[in-house]
Amino acid sequence: SQDYVGFDTITQQMERKFLKRGFNFNVILVGESGMGKSTLVNSIFSSHLVDSQGRRTAQEVIRKTTEISPVTQTLEENGVRVRLTIIDTPGFGDQCNNEGCWVPVIKYIKDQHAAYLERELKPQRDRVINDTRVHACLYFLNPGSRGLRPLDVEVLKRLTEVTNVIPVIAKSDSMTVEERTVFKRRIKEELVFHRIAVYPYPSEEDGEEDRLLNSSIRDLVPFAVVGSEEIIDVNGTPVRGRRHGWGVINIFDETHSDFVHLRNFMLRTHLSDLIEVTSQRHYEQFRTSQLRQIKE
Ligand code: GDP
Ligand code: MG
Repeated sequence: SQDYVGFDTITQQMERKFLKRGFNFNVILVGESGMGKSTLVNSIFSSHLVDSQGRRTAQEVIRKTTEISPVTQTLEENGVRVRLTIIDTPGFGDQCNNEGCWVPVIKYIKDQHAAYLERELKPQRDRVINDTRVHACLYFLNPGSRGLRPLDVEVLKRLTEVTNVIPVIAKSDSMTVEERTVFKRRIKEELVFHRIAVYPYPSEEDGEEDRLLNSSIRDLVPFAVVGSEEIIDVNGTPVRGRRHGWGVINIFDETHSDFVHLRNFMLRTHLSDLIEVTSQRHYEQFRTSQLRQIKE
């Protein structure tokens, strides 16, 4: 079924002990408001984890624009349990003047590192530390822009220093196939130009297979995504899609959207790597700098 997400394939990547206990996977959403962040996440996880604009109560609208709100839900597929936390952030460009709008996001990510470090350094250390560290950041690019805007550059530079950033082109059904190709190429060039290191990073340790896989992923970045929470009947077949003047776009259709690639990448092929890299690269960097400060 299309609703099957496939994170249970992680059994091939992780220790049994770890799997039995269940594990945390924390994803933060960053980008302008109205870019389809909530919709995409609900599309990826086939459930309504966060309310998207359509049916938000007045109360929630107020909440959404002012604070970072993590929502945790336990998902289970074939005996593999993931405690998934989606951290929705206030959209850039609405309430705050864009200057410094990334500060609370970076602070949130660092705070989780700090909390983990504190628990790690406790004399009576917990056997298992509840991991709230952010494992991935989906960064939403506006399809209406020509490429990276100065704000994107500013925010991406800071985000990539503290977490694994996965850029996506929001609402890519608003572009033609040619426009999308041009936009993707442009973003790739600009990321290189500004020395912004997005996930996955090149690694010496990678074998031939990983290298091929990662290079095919890098070709796709930024993932051009389309999200939908609607099931549309197309000649008797239920399709998760969006209605357009020319017909219905099926978000699972790989010729129209990188949605399936993104989902497989995040939840099947790279789930354990995202968790490992968070610990070995981002957390380690934070830890080292904190411990150095204590010594000085
Ligand atoms: P958020 O503020 O970034 O969380 O955006 P929402 O998920 O609340 O979506 C904002 C609006 O955009 C809603 O009306 C969605 O139905 C619509 N939307 C979401 N994803 C897409 C998409 O991929 N394509 C198009 N055309 N519209 C979308
Ligand atoms: Mg939202």
